[in-house]
Amino acid sequence: MDGSIVLYPSPGRGHLASMVELAKHILCHHPSFSVTVLLLSTPPPDTHFIATISASHPSITFHHLPAVSVPNSDHLSSSSPANFIYSTFEIVSLLNPTLHQTLGSLSRSSAIKAFVIDFFCNAAFGVSASLNIPTYYYYTSGASGLALFLYIPALHKNYPEGFKDLNVPIQVPGFPPVSPRDMPMVISDRSLRVYSHFLDTAIQMANSAGIIVNTFDSFQASALKALRDGLCVPDGATPPTYCVGPLVASGGGIEGGSERHECLGWLDSQPSRSVLFLSFGSMGVFSTRQLKEMASGLERSGVRFLWVVRVPPPHDEARRTSVELEPSAKSFLPEGFVDRTRGRGMIVESWAPQVEVLSHGSVGGFVTHCGWNSILEAVCHGVPMLAWPLYAEQRLNRVYLVEEMKLALSVTESEEEDGLVSADELEERVNELMRSEKGRAIRDRVLAMREAATAALSKGGSSLSALAKLIGSIKAGLSEVDVHDLV
Ligand code: UDP
Repeated sequence: MDGSIVLYPSPGRGHLASMVELAKHILCHHPSFSVTVLLLSTPPPDTHFIATISASHPSITFHHLPAVSVPNSDHLSSSSPANFIYSTFEIVSLLNPTLHQTLGSLSRSSAIKAFVIDFFCNAAFGVSASLNIPTYYYYTSGASGLALFLYIPALHKNYPEGFKDLNVPIQVPGFPPVSPRDMPMVISDRSLRVYSHFLDTAIQMANSAGIIVNTFDSFQASALKALRDGLCVPDGATPPTYCVGPLVASGGGIEGGSERHECLGWLDSQPSRSVLFLSFGSMGVFSTRQLKEMASGLERSGVRFLWVVRVPPPHDEARRTSVELEPSAKSFLPEGFVDRTRGRGMIVESWAPQVEVLSHGSVGGFVTHCGWNSILEAVCHGVPMLAWPLYAEQRLNRVYLVEEMKLALSVTESEEEDGLVSADELEERVNELMRSEKGRAIRDRVLAMREAATAALSKGGSSLSALAKLIGSIKAGLSEVDVHDLV
């Protein structure tokens, strides 16, 4: 054995599942390492997901860290991503003494050669550093997001007042000029208490042994060039970046146990590439007003659809006046909508087996919130996208996806109406994606990118080579300085 690699994911579904894919990938290509995944117990992890992975990949060891009590623990179940993120940073920090003991005891059975942390687990960096364990970050979003992330200290200096209220485009290396509106709120609004965590993390990340990124070289060439040319970090010395992706789940029963989800049976009966899939990540929710606009737009478009719908957030007017304790998502759609669209439309409440849906031959388009995993899943299955970002770095992902890569069309939100996407707008864009030459051109580019993704992960491809380089540096136990000199 070559020793062990310990992974420390944050609890959001997209982050955890992506780190688990990294664990599988390392073990598949370098089985001489053992891999342990540390799991936070606050908030509780998805036990079904963990049990399924444990059963299918017994070589991955899961280690549950104890629960901690956090002030404002309601933030963990709140629908505000900023609060969720802030709580995660805090929980990881509270767990540091336990982490110290855990790493110490794990290393007694097998030397820990690398500690790989999610960026929300930044507080753990000091612990592994004190134990002389080389620490790498796993960046679950793409190279474009990473370019911005590492550039936060420069933005902090260049825009002392922040840029939330600026009207001029912001220059970020590797990007087309970005409107301040498209910047992640947690970076542009300095009054948010989570901001300082992002700034600290960006500084620390630039001093790590390396950054593993869930992307592939030919997918994000301009952002990678900016990173590798050192344009995103203050001293021009970007740590080695290992683009090992795309790492996406293969589907196949993880979501629904052994039972096949009924939406897949419904897709079986639909014509090839005819169905538009609408799904907005693990946290995407809409107001009742927006749901009604979406429903009208879909109905008028005449397009077949499979739509993951959730109940609106607690502060939504209709939700507050709902008499039901746990109302169904369908009850927020226009009256008669489900009956009128029966046969050509299907509603799934809350959660669908997204990877299986995207890999189904009947799906011809994907309305996505531009979460990074969702983008990679669409690319790996050759599905053209309609970008409708909601939170985190998703607006930025849209800029890159639509303007730079041209793999998606975009909805236009109304500035007067608080970002509302009207029924007319959705109808028009859906038709463009599913029925126009422009949509076909997007599909062709996505299909070409699917081929490039397969090539990157094949023998001799850029992503497998990057993984080999990463493992080489882990085996050699190189210090940061040595690694900088080498790569
Ligand atoms: N997902 C799913 N079913 C759903 C919604 C989401 O399987 O109904 C999965 C999706 O396939 C992806 C992950 O949840 O792997 C969401 O990750 P992403 O990075 O796209 O967005 P996030 O949830 O982090 O905003």
